Amino acid sequence: MSSRILIYKFGERCVATAEGMERIVDIVRDALSRGYRLVVVVAAVEGVTDRLLSLCREMELGVEDRVGGHINWVREVYVKLAMEALGSIEAREAALKRIEAVVGEVRSISYTCVKLREVTAKVRDYIASIGEVLSAIIVSSKLTEEGIDSVALAGWEAGIVTDGRFGDANPLIENTRVEVSKRLKPLIDRGITPVVAGFSGATIDGCITTLGRGGADYTATILAACLDSDEVYLWTHVDGIMTADPMIERRARTIDKLSYEEAIELARFSVKGLHPRVFDPIASRGIPVRVRNLFDTGKHGTSIEPGRPEVDRRIVKTVVLIRDVALLAVEGTGMVGLPGVAAKVFEALGRAGVNILMISQSSSEANITMVIDRGSLDRAVAALESSVTGLLVSRVYYEPDICVVSVVGAGMRGTPGVAAKVFRAVASKGINVRMIAQGSSEYNISFVVKEEDGEEAVRAIHDEFKLYED
Ligand code: ASP
Ligand code: MG
Repeated sequence: MSSRILIYKFGERCVATAEGMERIVDIVRDALSRGYRLVVVVAAVEGVTDRLLSLCREMELGVEDRVGGHINWVREVYVKLAMEALGSIEAREAALKRIEAVVGEVRSISYTCVKLREVTAKVRDYIASIGEVLSAIIVSSKLTEEGIDSVALAGWEAGIVTDGRFGDANPLIENTRVEVSKRLKPLIDRGITPVVAGFSGATIDGCITTLGRGGADYTATILAACLDSDEVYLWTHVDGIMTADPMIERRARTIDKLSYEEAIELARFSVKGLHPRVFDPIASRGIPVRVRNLFDTGKHGTSIEPGRPEVDRRIVKTVVLIRDVALLAVEGTGMVGLPGVAAKVFEALGRAGVNILMISQSSSEANITMVIDRGSLDRAVAALESSVTGLLVSRVYYEPDICVVSVVGAGMRGTPGVAAKVFRAVASKGINVRMIAQGSSEYNISFVVKEEDGEEAVRAIHDEFKLYED
């Protein structure tokens, strides 16, 4: 019997309903019957991680009744799911007991935090991690009930070891490899299908960490690398990665194939929900990733594979709209020719925890323009005004009502005229471009337009490059 290992990761909507659970059982059973060994990785049910983070904020503010409300909401989601998904009374009771134990622990931690109005980074990561833990309990119970030998594991129990960057931790791959071979491998070898809670791990000394938003996919690729697995399947509720958001462009199609380089570009820069480092652990090993629809398994989805992107006939693969961002600029002739100003600006923003999506500096050096998450705009402006305004920078300028349009495709590299085509298409709609950046990989051209022009710009580019054609 083949002992090839596949990683099956199930997304936030796959684990949200009894129907999803049935489908998970079906495809897990199917893969096992074809002789594969499986490791299942699960996300939290849609909306749960957001709730848990809101819970942390309310604890800091000391709003007791809201704290209770959030915990009850999360508990309800999983209790209902367990009741609907699990058939036997014994399975339900066993799962409910474990759910109550996890929720009870959160309750007692929150009791102290809300009194003290203090949430440390460690507490926040611990609390944020429990959505996936609860998903794992139910999925594993379901598999067991259906006769598939299974066990639920938290990320650290599976062996995910990270550094101490709480909220956005990085895996320590060598340590993880050792731990995974001690903890996970023996289970797999015994024919058990582990269900691992995505998104979290622990430091070497055992503090629970999270891998950053969208981190459940990252768990899957980390485990794939450490287990030398054959393939990673990211099961979702959509057909795959598309040429554009179908809500914006109704002729958008699923992209059959992306190279790692293109996928990395999409993850780093564009697609919300794709973790920026998700391909790092597997790219050098050439492990393919398949994005597939759990609810329509006949569709072939998108495959992300090592490849020679330059021979791909499609120059542009996808055009993405990034919303909820803001433009931020520092201006001043004091910056001209003075080394270290950019460093000071980025340092101030880094300290304030502001994530920068795009940067451009005019060659006159009198202006540095950035795009950041809109939610961090106030923080960013305050940080700059208290640190660099005055001597170096005469003005901090911002626009909250913008969006970024990002055009991705490895074929753009070295192909002249692509940028001209992009901007011709946009100009033909009378849309004004406020800022432009091209990564030196040349796999990506991104630009800023007014928020109200974003969708039209996406459609114009989708049309110009005929992305609707099969
Ligand atoms: N639940 C986490 C999040 O919402 C991780 C994930 O879904 O991948 O960010
Ligand atoms: Mg999520």
